[in-house]
Amino acid sequence: MDECIFCRIKRGDLPATVVHEDDHCLAFHDKFPRAPTHLLVIPKKHLPDLNALGEEDKALVSHIMLTIPSIARKQGLEAYRMATNIGAAAGQAVFHLHFHILGGGPLSPL
Ligand code: 5GP
Ligand code: ZN
Repeated sequence: MDECIFCRIKRGDLPATVVHEDDHCLAFHDKFPRAPTHLLVIPKKHLPDLNALGEEDKALVSHIMLTIPSIARKQGLEAYRMATNIGAAAGQAVFHLHFHILGGGPLSPL
C-alpha cells in the first residue's frame, strides 16, 4: 500500500485539507476540484473500489454512508452529488475506494 496516494494522505505523508476524520474514514478536499466544493471521503482501510467490499465491510460502508450527510451538512451543502467510480473505464484514477461529494453550486446533469 506504500504507493497508494490516499493511504499516504491517511498516514499524513501527503498533505491534504482534511475536513473530517474518525476511526474508520477520512474526508478531505479534492486537489483538482470540479465543483465549488469537491470532497473525497475514503475508508481508512485500503480497498481498491466498491467491488472489493466484502460481508466483513458492512459496518464500515454503513458508517461511511451515515457520515457523508453529516460532512456535507457541516460544509454547508444543501444539495450535493455523491459518486464513486469503479474501474478505469468509468474514470477511476485512484484505486483506493473513495466517494466524491460535489456541491456548492449547480451541477451539470449526469
Ligand atoms: P477518481 O478519478 O479515481 O474517481 O478520483 C480521484 C480523485 O482524486 C480525483 O478527483 C483527483 O482530482 C483527486 N486527486 C488526485 N490526486 C490527489 C492528491 O494528491 N490529493 C487530493 N486531495 N486529491 C487528489
Ligand atoms: Zn490506499
